[in-house]
Amino acid sequence: MRNYKFRLYPNLDQEYKLQNNLNVCKWVYNKFVEQAQKSFLSRNDMNYILTELKQSESWLYQYHSKMLQMVSTQLEGTEKALIELNKKGYKTGQLRFARYNEFRTFTYNQSGFKLNNNKLFLSKIGDIRIKKHRDTPDNIKQVIVTKSKSGKWHACITCELVKMNLPKINFLKSVGIDVGIKSFAYDSDNHSTPNPLNLKKMLKPLVRVQRKVSRRKKGSNNRLKAIQHLQRIHERIVNRRNDFQHKLSSIYANHYDVVFVEDLRIQNMMKNHRLAQSIMDSSWSLFLQKLEYKCKLFVEVPTRNTTMDCSRCGNKVPKSLAVRIHRCDKCNLVIDRDYNASINILQKGLKIFSQNKLPQELRKVTPVEISKRSMKQEANTFRRW
Ligand SMILES: [Zn+2]
Repeated sequence: MRNYKFRLYPNLDQEYKLQNNLNVCKWVYNKFVEQAQKSFLSRNDMNYILTELKQSESWLYQYHSKMLQMVSTQLEGTEKALIELNKKGYKTGQLRFARYNEFRTFTYNQSGFKLNNNKLFLSKIGDIRIKKHRDTPDNIKQVIVTKSKSGKWHACITCELVKMNLPKINFLKSVGIDVGIKSFAYDSDNHSTPNPLNLKKMLKPLVRVQRKVSRRKKGSNNRLKAIQHLQRIHERIVNRRNDFQHKLSSIYANHYDVVFVEDLRIQNMMKNHRLAQSIMDSSWSLFLQKLEYKCKLFVEVPTRNTTMDCSRCGNKVPKSLAVRIHRCDKCNLVIDRDYNASINILQKGLKIFSQNKLPQELRKVTPVEISKRSMKQEANTFRRW
């Protein structure tokens, strides 16, 4: 499956209908929540509730019926997420009702849509102008319509791709990546990508507008305007972050077959409650998500001490966060600390595969060969220092 996201340009009448669709889905969603707060709802339960609802509320028939059914997928997702959080030991409250403007997507599944060159037809709504900036396969499975925080409409088109063969994996094209604050990503081929600092730049206006919102009278028009402004800033931050992360992850996915990263859950044990820090955390995990779905082989290496261990001799060199250079007394290795960490990640990752298990037909080169080669190559790289 592959998703394509296109901007929609509905006219006033259509926008009204789209918003109406959202409102109805939200209403159904909240009806489900009401029941789900009492006991866990399966999808069957929800479909049953929906059929009953339709009997008492006949106006529901005006809406695309598959769309109403798909609301259950959303609630199912929320329920699963809650259970997942509980398992990890987080405190979770009850399932919450969706508020206006929090509920921003509805789904047409299997039927009720048709995509042409510059129009998207949605049943019960009509032909909406769409900016189709690239071709899609014919085999469209579903259309998800979303409204952004600032009120822009998009369509996510899910297409089924033709069956593809498993990719051959060349372990000679492996890389380890260390994510950090100074460089957003530092890899074992000694490329570093600086942190874009978008957020820091945006944090000031964000705080300023936030203050504006809280000063204005609740329910007033001016407060509404300030809120809209705030949401535009939020959206811009998200757009910039996504743009940066998509470009960087695409570079790695195109250049390498195997990408190793450190398992961030282990780092997260040293939790830090500063705002900027927590945003960085989420930023990294979003980046890793993108890498994961783009790369041929993506492995989170469960490992500790990647910054401390010397990547050449294994000697332990403890250092505080402020020390940017790794200096080993034993083998005289002197390199950037993040570079050292990324080599450690690569080596530990390759070790996992040299001990096991990847089916032979997937491999072009075995990990054992590559570890020998990478040692030699590293020796060369180090000579430059
Ligand atoms: Zn050393």
